[in-house]
Amino acid sequence: MEKKYVIIGHGIAGCVLALTFYRRGIPFKIIGSTRPGEASMASSGLINPVTGRRYVKAWMIDELIEKALDFYSWTEVLLGNTYFFPVDIIRFLSNHDAIDAWKKRHEDPLYASYISNKRFEYLDDLQKPYGIVTGGYRLDTQAWLKAVRIFLASKGFLESGFEPISDRVVGNDTIIFATGAVGKSLSNGLIPNKGEAIIVRIPGWKLPGVIKDKVYFIPLKENNLFWVGSYYQPWPEHANLTEEGKEKLLEAISEVYPGEVELIEHLTGIRPTVDDRRPLIGPSPEHVGKYLFNGMGTKGTSLAPYWADELIDHITIGKSLPYIVNPSRYPATTGLINR
Ligand SMILES: Cc1cc2nc3c(=O)[nH]c(=O)nc-3n(C[C@H](O)[C@H](O)[C@H](O)COP(=O)(O)OP(=O)(O)OC[C@H]3O[C@@H](n4cnc5c(N)ncnc54)[C@H](O)[C@@H]3O)c2cc1C
Repeated sequence: MEKKYVIIGHGIAGCVLALTFYRRGIPFKIIGSTRPGEASMASSGLINPVTGRRYVKAWMIDELIEKALDFYSWTEVLLGNTYFFPVDIIRFLSNHDAIDAWKKRHEDPLYASYISNKRFEYLDDLQKPYGIVTGGYRLDTQAWLKAVRIFLASKGFLESGFEPISDRVVGNDTIIFATGAVGKSLSNGLIPNKGEAIIVRIPGWKLPGVIKDKVYFIPLKENNLFWVGSYYQPWPEHANLTEEGKEKLLEAISEVYPGEVELIEHLTGIRPTVDDRRPLIGPSPEHVGKYLFNGMGTKGTSLAPYWADELIDHITIGKSLPYIVNPSRYPATTGLINR
């Protein structure tokens, strides 16, 4: 019987992995059930190459962006629509330290493709110092994921259903868990981290890019709509939307935009974060012979395409994976964590 790879979980991690198997002509199946707290459906899909107060390049960002661009562009041809867009990210430089740190990066040739002093009239009018991060991208994750699921189901690759995370052997198949952090059973090292976001309509507000302030303000494809989010809540008690989360985000908007705002949608998701901020890619310490494709944290959009190819190379031709992503760095001392 032909050996098949079975992916459990159909968030961005599972779907990117599935399409990578498909692209490489390797037989696979994906099983997914939609559960409360699915992170991918709340994500703004941003790839932000330079982050933090010191404007440091994100881990492996040059390689990750190259792979993401190639992968999502290929899926756009496959799915017959556009989902992946270049974006500029506006950073307000609110004190001397920020201005100095920005200047330093601007002079650094390693940051040449990401740090720009380009000007926008709208921002100049605000009379607040700012810098522009270039070379970022945004995946319209919800629309992309819906289209991918329809594509995979129409070809008979995607089965809808909940597959318990267990040692149960499924025939001759190799199992890969891409289950994020929504379930009760979590791999060692995973820290569920809840975020809430809102989609609002702000008529007449035209931003030249994404604003990264206390929260992100992301202009969406549809005119006047913005994704605004999100805060971090490790080990949340539940995956539900909260009034408090919504109010906090509306308040953050009022600090930047004083006019009328119409609430369109309230979203929440549980991110699969890891305390060393590296994903969990490779053999599962808990389930011998099975694999993990998890721990994408706050960066599923950029991490998934690169690490999908690396995991497939590891499983099919034995290419080694760096220890820094190997799940065995969090040994299975107590087995799965049950919440
Ligand atoms: C508010 C918010 C904003 C974010 N913004 C960004 C951003 O701008 N850029 C970025 O890169 N990342 C962002 N993220 C992070 C990003 O969403 C995650 O990195 C990514 O979604 C993780 O994908 P995943 O597939 O591992 O997990 P999930 O999306 O949670 O998917 C896991 C899937 O597996 C299914 N599943 C679980 N267990 C089983 C089972 N036993 N059987 C069958 N199915 C199962 C679940 O129902 C779900 O469909 C954001 C997250 C949040 C919450």
